[in-house]
Amino acid sequence: MSRPEFSVETKAVHSGERRRFSPEREKVAYPVAGGVSPSVSYVYDDSELLDAALGSDPDLPVYFRYGNPTTAAFEEAMIALECHEGLDEEEYCGFATGSGMAAIQLAMAAAGAGAGKTIAASQDCYGATYSLVADLWPRYGAQGLFVDTTDLDAVRSMLEKSRPLFLIVETISNPLLRVADLRALADLCHAYDALLLVDNTFATPLLCRPLSLGADMVIHSATKYIGGHGDVMGGIVVAHRRHRENLWDYIKKTGSNLGAQEAWLLHRGLKTLALRIERQCSNAAEIASQLLGWPEVARVYYPGLSGHPQFGLAQSQFADGLGGAVVSFEVAGADRQRIFSLLESLQLIQPATTVGDVYTLMLYPAHSSHRALSKSERAAVGIRDGLVRLSIGLETTDDILNDLRQALQRTVEIADRRSLSES
Ligand SMILES: *Cc1c(COP(=O)(O)O)cnc(C)c1O
Repeated sequence: MSRPEFSVETKAVHSGERRRFSPEREKVAYPVAGGVSPSVSYVYDDSELLDAALGSDPDLPVYFRYGNPTTAAFEEAMIALECHEGLDEEEYCGFATGSGMAAIQLAMAAAGAGAGKTIAASQDCYGATYSLVADLWPRYGAQGLFVDTTDLDAVRSMLEKSRPLFLIVETISNPLLRVADLRALADLCHAYDALLLVDNTFATPLLCRPLSLGADMVIHSATKYIGGHGDVMGGIVVAHRRHRENLWDYIKKTGSNLGAQEAWLLHRGLKTLALRIERQCSNAAEIASQLLGWPEVARVYYPGLSGHPQFGLAQSQFADGLGGAVVSFEVAGADRQRIFSLLESLQLIQPATTVGDVYTLMLYPAHSSHRALSKSERAAVGIRDGLVRLSIGLETTDDILNDLRQALQRTVEIADRRSLSES
């Protein structure tokens, strides 16, 4: 009986459940919703099977660091989503890790980063990713480079001149929400024998599936939208099986595995991902267009707005023309002190350092994600002192906008009082 092809939303609900480890298992009952298998080790009646498990088969559980059924169920679900439409799941593998950064480090190591190698990243990549390329890998003898990945000519000349092992890029960058042209970047990388690694955290497989656009490995901080509730940390790499040995070898040796409880929670989160993304993206689109008209707001960054520099690309690359669920904006004339009073005036929105939760969150890049840069370095990458990032949650847009409005008004009052007392 051939299996029907389901939608990606349906796959998010069912994939990775009701797994059968052996033909015999088909004859017994199995749970609708899988549970947690925390066992560190497994015993085998058949020593030949144990030998296979120890030697080459990450799907046969033997010892946690080599693979675990709960983690494998989550990995299977993520493979199904990232391979949806066009790719054969059987040809892909996934390895879940204890955090998004562990997944990025795993992907880089499996791609061959090390002494004498050049590695490249998008210049506005996530802060810790930047540090891996700028500081950590260079300590082991690699050379790290950065390039503006929205400038394809710059990418081509970097690839031609420096011949890096890989280029790592984010589908949607943070906090300015630039969109990477993944198909064009994959073609360019492959023309110069480089791998394209894509951090798909902000887009999720609901908006975009980088492997089908030519990426070699896709990475998630599952801590964000996949888990979705701000209560579990994890990461994952999904890649073609040709990278499986390198990925498995590194994870086995370094032990960056995701725990069983965390895998179970992330897999549970996945089941509502499509609903959350749909609501969070529509909330974000509404809030971004409202903010455009507010006098306190100098500039709005959102890939779903027609004024965004990669609006056309976002429309064609992302499912249903969605623009994601993060909106950044500049408060007119605001300095650090004014943004601090904005953060302190919020009553609903949480001034917290993460994205992708069910809660709406506000982050101030100049003092969090980009605090290591000087004011002029920040200005050079387009991050001004009045810029804040909103990760839109599941609340109603009226409640979110009302909170923003009252907090911005309070901020203006505080600033007026301050200038009065100074004059
Ligand atoms: C949060 C984040 C990471 C790091 O993930 P952790 O789970 O915090 O280790 C990497 N990339 C992006 C785009 C992120 O938002």
